Amino acid sequence: MSYTPDYPFPKLEYGETLEVAPGIHWVRMPLPFALNHINLWLLEDGDSWTVIDTGYNVERSREIWDDSLGKIAGGGPVDRLICTHFHPDHLGLAGWFVEKFGTSLWMTYAEWLQAHVAVSETVTHDFDRWVDFYRDNGASEKMTLGFKEVREAFRDPWYRLPETVRRIQDNEVITIGGRAWHIITGGGHSHEHASLWCPELNVLISGDQILPRISSNISLWYTEPDGDPLRHYFESFDKFRHIPEDVLVLPSHDYPFRGMHGRLDDLRAHHQERLDVALEFCAEPQTAADVIPSLFTREIGVFEFSFAMGETLAHLNYLVTEGSLERHMGDDGLIRYRRVA
Ligand SMILES: [Zn+2]
Repeated sequence: MSYTPDYPFPKLEYGETLEVAPGIHWVRMPLPFALNHINLWLLEDGDSWTVIDTGYNVERSREIWDDSLGKIAGGGPVDRLICTHFHPDHLGLAGWFVEKFGTSLWMTYAEWLQAHVAVSETVTHDFDRWVDFYRDNGASEKMTLGFKEVREAFRDPWYRLPETVRRIQDNEVITIGGRAWHIITGGGHSHEHASLWCPELNVLISGDQILPRISSNISLWYTEPDGDPLRHYFESFDKFRHIPEDVLVLPSHDYPFRGMHGRLDDLRAHHQERLDVALEFCAEPQTAADVIPSLFTREIGVFEFSFAMGETLAHLNYLVTEGSLERHMGDDGLIRYRRVA
């Protein structure tokens, strides 16, 4: 692969901040996962401030926000919070901002709804259904039980979810600090993820949609067994292609970088490689669990299991949708994928 990102800024320690473009301040926070950090953005906005994404709902995140807001913004106020998507490392402290500043939450409607579905625990937290789904797809007892334990431990990651939202939509242009920012929505990693592009500054806040080093998790969930999130992810790439090559990309993980077009090509090639391997492997009927080791060279433990399973299923369903694989349930109750002859 040809991609080499250009990282124009030095490494930032947790709690440090850096102005990476006029009026845009980078805040870096730890996360309690294997993916151990997140980048957040504090934007000057007239007499107030706009925050992009919040960090996870733990005391350390709130301390870093208090400190960073004190240093950069004289303590606030933060009138607007824009969340790229519903995942708790991005939305976890929305309620804290609302309580502290009366902040208004801006996000896409599907992400806001998905957050409320998650918090209500009606569907997404039915871990027995998750386990059935994984078992049907060939997962071992050890993995399904481990998954349940891991998920139970992270079941309440939100401070409090705001009841109201100001909806943002694809192609909408909003003004932050007197400058126009274009909303670009995309699926795959989550349903209606929002990135923000400012042509005047040539800056793209990419969220989790485009990351410079790791590839965003693209997972199939039990709630949408016929879903095709990988296709939605690829389709979103076209919406970024008009942006200039030298755009400064501000991603949620790793570091600000230049080279977005090369990175999109690289991500497409990475997934294509996995699609080719999965298709080859399914010359004989295979469960999704059988396919995992051919797609992931690293050891998959219970923590990574649901990501690996979701990602594998996303690749398999993509191949089903395009007609290269067929999916059927055997007499043993297991779902298998087989290459179309
Ligand atoms: Zn995410």
